[in-house]
Amino acid sequence: MELTILGCYAATPRSFTNPTSQVLRINNHLFLIDCGEGTQVELRRNKIKFSKIKHVFISHLHGDHSYGLIGFISTLHLLKRETELHIYGPKGVKEIILIQLKHSNSWTSYPLYFHELEGKEPEVIFEDDKVIVETIPLKHRIYTNGFFFKEKPGLRKLLIDKATDFKIDVSLYQSLKNGKDVKSNDGKLIKNELVTAPPDNPKSYAYCSDTMYFPQIISQIKDASVLYHESTFLEENLELAEPTKHSTAKQAAKIAKDANVEKLILGHYSTRYNSIQTFKDEAASVFENVELAEDGKTFKF
Ligand SMILES: [Zn+2]
Repeated sequence: MELTILGCYAATPRSFTNPTSQVLRINNHLFLIDCGEGTQVELRRNKIKFSKIKHVFISHLHGDHSYGLIGFISTLHLLKRETELHIYGPKGVKEIILIQLKHSNSWTSYPLYFHELEGKEPEVIFEDDKVIVETIPLKHRIYTNGFFFKEKPGLRKLLIDKATDFKIDVSLYQSLKNGKDVKSNDGKLIKNELVTAPPDNPKSYAYCSDTMYFPQIISQIKDASVLYHESTFLEENLELAEPTKHSTAKQAAKIAKDANVEKLILGHYSTRYNSIQTFKDEAASVFENVELAEDGKTFKF
C-alpha cells in the first residue's frame, strides 16, 4: 500500500497547506479519500492521474473534507472521461452534487454512481477478490464515517525447488497455492507445508477523521498496519476539542496504543498552531511509532 497525503489541515485552505484529502494505492486501485478544496491541484502536483481514480470515499460533509468534490467531478467531464466513478459518502452527498450540476447546466460524460451511507454500525461498502473496505462509524458534530481498507489474505507461496524435488506435477501448483495437499508423480501424498510458505500478512489502513476521542472504534481497527487519526488540537486545548468533537494528539495516540496498531499517522491539524512537531512529541509520549502527515508526503507500508 502507498498513501499520499494531498492535504492534512483542518478548516481553511492557506498559502502552503490544504484541507483534507489523500490517495491510497492498494493492489490495482487508487482510492481518493476525502476531497477538500485544492485536491485537484495537489493531484497534479503529485503526478497522480485523475483517470486512475474510480472510487471516492467521503467521510462527512463538512467543507474541509468535501468542497473539492464538485470541481473534481466536473474536471473529469472536461477530460472526457468515459469510465464510471463511484462516490461513497453520507446521505445528502448526491443531492449536493446534483443540485450543483443542475444549476450550472452541467452533466458528466461518464456514469456517476452514489453509494449513500446512513448506517451506524460498520458495514462493507466495497469488495473485490483482493480488497475489502468497511466503514468505521465515528463521533463528530455531523454524521461521519472513517474507512478501513484491508487486503484479503493472499495465496500460499510455492517453494518451487521443493516442489521439483518432491516430483510434483506443474498442473498441481495452483492447488498447492490454495493450501491443498497433493500427490507426487510417484504417488506419495505431499503435505502442503513441505512445499509452500505462508502468505505475507495482509496490510490494512484505518482512516479516522473527523472524530472526538471514541474508543468504541478500537475493537474494529485492532492490529491495523497503519492508523491515520485526526489530531486537531493539542492537549492544552482540550477545552476546544470537546465541544467541536475533535481529538487531541494524545487521544489519537491512546487509540493507537489500545488498538495495537503498527504505525500512527497524525493529521487534521488546527491552523492555530505554528509548528506541528509538538503534535508528534505529545503523541510519542503515549505511542512511540508515530509520524506526522504533511501535504505531499507519501507513506509506504
Ligand atoms: Zn469535520
